[in-house]
Amino acid sequence: MSAADSASTAPRSQVWAHVGQPFTPDSFDIVVVGAGRMGAACALYLRQLAPHLSLLLVEEGGLPNEEGATILAPGVWTAFDVPEGQEAAAEWTREQLLSGIEKLEVESRPLVELLRDGADTVPSSEALAHAPEALALLDPQVYPCAHVDDRALTYRPGQLALQAAQQAIRLGANLLLNTRAEPGVGQVKLHRLTVTNTHQIVVHETRQVRARAVVVAAGAAGPVLVEHGVGLHTRHGRAYVQYPRLNLPTSAQTPVLRAGGLTLRPQNDGLTLIPPIHHRDPQGYQPAGGQLTGVLTGLRREVLEDLVALMDGLPALSSDRLELGRSSADIAGAWVSLPGGQPDTIPTAEQPAPGLFLLLGGPRADTLGLATAHALATEVVATLD
Ligand code: ADP
Repeated sequence: MSAADSASTAPRSQVWAHVGQPFTPDSFDIVVVGAGRMGAACALYLRQLAPHLSLLLVEEGGLPNEEGATILAPGVWTAFDVPEGQEAAAEWTREQLLSGIEKLEVESRPLVELLRDGADTVPSSEALAHAPEALALLDPQVYPCAHVDDRALTYRPGQLALQAAQQAIRLGANLLLNTRAEPGVGQVKLHRLTVTNTHQIVVHETRQVRARAVVVAAGAAGPVLVEHGVGLHTRHGRAYVQYPRLNLPTSAQTPVLRAGGLTLRPQNDGLTLIPPIHHRDPQGYQPAGGQLTGVLTGLRREVLEDLVALMDGLPALSSDRLELGRSSADIAGAWVSLPGGQPDTIPTAEQPAPGLFLLLGGPRADTLGLATAHALATEVVATLD
């Protein structure tokens, strides 16, 4: 070992942010495609579990990517989203949010689920006694009862992706940004992207690296990448989720509210609305706005229907504080993967071909995603060691 090698015990890592930085490596033990929260977390756990295996994390955009589902995801951990048998995974994820991801800001904020009736509930006026601004949103005659999750947490998934990736880099991960990956078995093609002076995104150069294991964590694009890469059909789906805003004052004490499947998440001095997902969107679906009393809106028809159905119990939704937009471009939205093609399924990890892994977060990733990312990292290391 040379003096230079022994001088530093910290693993060396490299970050390539733009095409001006030459990319020369031709192989890694592991390549992770996609630095959303699932890919970034998986990369971090891989570094923790197997520091001797070299790793490249590839992301089509920046970190965090402004386009992915991660940046818009609600970031609400709640026991109400835990299906039977997943309790340990949810608790593990909660623990990681609180102390496993360095510098992640997590707030303890109860989640109050409003109900029209039900056993084992508390009066909604009591559940919201300390949050008059939340109580003012609803008609207590329509929602007289509530369930409260006192252990709920809120955080920003975009910050989670960023912090997990940075922690992975400190542990020796390599990061290649602005690069579209085409994963295959045993290798990954890397198209390094650049922007022309007419603002077009073009491929600057294409490289190929060998990889003993490839983890596809590309969100809603993941199943398609796997299908193209190995010619396999998967059963997964995707849905376009819109996150309209309700501009009413909130505070650090305002709880997360839920009613009829709609989540109202206090954020940036207002409420972000997270509508329920009813089904996968068909192949080729293009997000398009609907109409409300003849006026064009940026909200999809099914989101409008859900909101209209809730207006009796949540009269604030029918006020001009709800941002409807004029076209779908006005409403923040993202494609979310639906593991198994169902709206209510949990994050999944699988190995569609030897050495090729698919990691999907989806709508329940806030509560269960980190446990799935860790389980996959463990499985990948087991196949390589
Ligand atoms: P998740 O919640 O599962 O992490 P996201 O959609 O937030 O899902 O993250 C997926 C990330 O993968 C996005 O940041 C997206 O830019 C990136 N991505 C998608 N396709 C590719 C690709 N072919 N190559 C590299 N990165 C990709």
